[in-house]
Amino acid sequence: MPPQKTEGIILGSADWHETSKIVTFYTKDFGKIRGVAKGARRKKSHFSPLEILSHHSIIFYQREDKDLYTLSECQAQETFPDIRKDIRKVAYGAYLAELIEVVSTSEKNQPLFDLFLKALHFLGKKEDSEIIIRAFEARLLDLLGFGLGLDHCVICKKRVEDDSKFHPGLGGLICTHHPQDGIRISKETRKFLKSPGIKRVSSGTRKELKTVLQSSILYHIGKRLKSLDFLEAIE
Ligand SMILES: [Zn+2]
Repeated sequence: MPPQKTEGIILGSADWHETSKIVTFYTKDFGKIRGVAKGARRKKSHFSPLEILSHHSIIFYQREDKDLYTLSECQAQETFPDIRKDIRKVAYGAYLAELIEVVSTSEKNQPLFDLFLKALHFLGKKEDSEIIIRAFEARLLDLLGFGLGLDHCVICKKRVEDDSKFHPGLGGLICTHHPQDGIRISKETRKFLKSPGIKRVSSGTRKELKTVLQSSILYHIGKRLKSLDFLEAIE
């Protein structure tokens, strides 16, 4: 494979041998990749600092081991200093990175890359961090093909009225007369989920969105993310 050029956001890194690093990127054109940055821990390294969440243009090529590439160039395009100076934003950013790491593969998914980058841009501004995360989670579920059924009951297919409940395992709303347990959600919560974005919501809706989205994500990925402990400690 000839050297490939793309852009990527750092999901994490680990030390490798004496002076190098293995860096995981979520890229625009190749999905998730892991690459060795040779000599990246030397003082005079030609790599710019490889910090989590920073957005780089990169050149990489294949090594003998299939899943690990060699990074020949990483040039930081954006490092998001406004996220790094706010501990809550750092915690939210770490959660986004862990979520992308868990749900992504080495298949190209440019809408997912774009969503990730956009969320980081919003997080770097003075926007409501919690709502940025909720909008990201709702859009992520859609992109992964786990969009929530919010118009029709996912059991009997009847159009749902205002009085309905949400079932994470079934992925949507169900009528109140079905015996399955569910989470009661308000009209405002349903409206947000149907068209997620950065908007003002009541504190009740905030709580409902968190419950609905995090239980849906937990259901699909099957494990609790480590970064949530850090996030909850800060909140
Ligand atoms: Zn029903």
